[in-house]
Amino acid sequence: MKLVLLGPPGAGKGTQAKVLSEDYNIPHISTGDILREAVKAKTPVGMKAREFMDRGGLVPDEVVIEIVAGRVARPDCKKGFILDGFPRTEAQAKALDSTLAQLKCPIDLVLYFKTSVETIIQRLSGRRVCRNCAATYHIRNIPPKVTGKCDLCGGELYQRDDDKEETVRNRIKVYESTVPQVIDYYEAKGILRTVSGDMDVDEANAYLSKLFLKENIK
Ligand code: AMP
Repeated sequence: MKLVLLGPPGAGKGTQAKVLSEDYNIPHISTGDILREAVKAKTPVGMKAREFMDRGGLVPDEVVIEIVAGRVARPDCKKGFILDGFPRTEAQAKALDSTLAQLKCPIDLVLYFKTSVETIIQRLSGRRVCRNCAATYHIRNIPPKVTGKCDLCGGELYQRDDDKEETVRNRIKVYESTVPQVIDYYEAKGILRTVSGDMDVDEANAYLSKLFLKENIK
């Protein structure tokens, strides 16, 4: 199964990607997570990416394209992978196609999580992330067992700087200006499927299981 998950921040892509990654035993590749790790580790990529991320803008195409090209070429992606948060521009989509053509493993499906603005704001304002292992929670929808602590490793939960309201609004604006071209690109290829991003985790997962069956995606 080679999937691309498209949708605005807060659409539930990361949550579904994690569930699918466990169910199908394939890597979940989130460019946002990779970039946040790079920022934390102060690598050259992280230093470059930080200013764009802090503003809620996009990191330059060449930086993310190189990250993803290297990641999908690794042996653990042979069986499949789930791309979350990439591609976000048409240039990224084209670069991904040429990388995957070389690897002879084209994308099976692109799932577009169409989501209302109210859902986005509600999800992002309540999202909390573990500082240690990056596990994601929501103060109401997916609360940790102990407030402020990660169920998996006990790490401290925090709110991402770019989940604060002003930055969220900018991220939505950036998303709306670049993603329509990506949606058109995949629609023209006939591999785009629209999924409601307003469903809760279990509903969305059940919906996707049926969709994969119907599309014969393994
Ligand atoms: P996310 O966790 O997917 O919301 O990504 C967080 C931030 O990382 C975004 O607001 C961008 O600054 C950056 N980012 C993640 N993926 C990409 C991408 N494919 N292209 C450009 N910037 C990205």
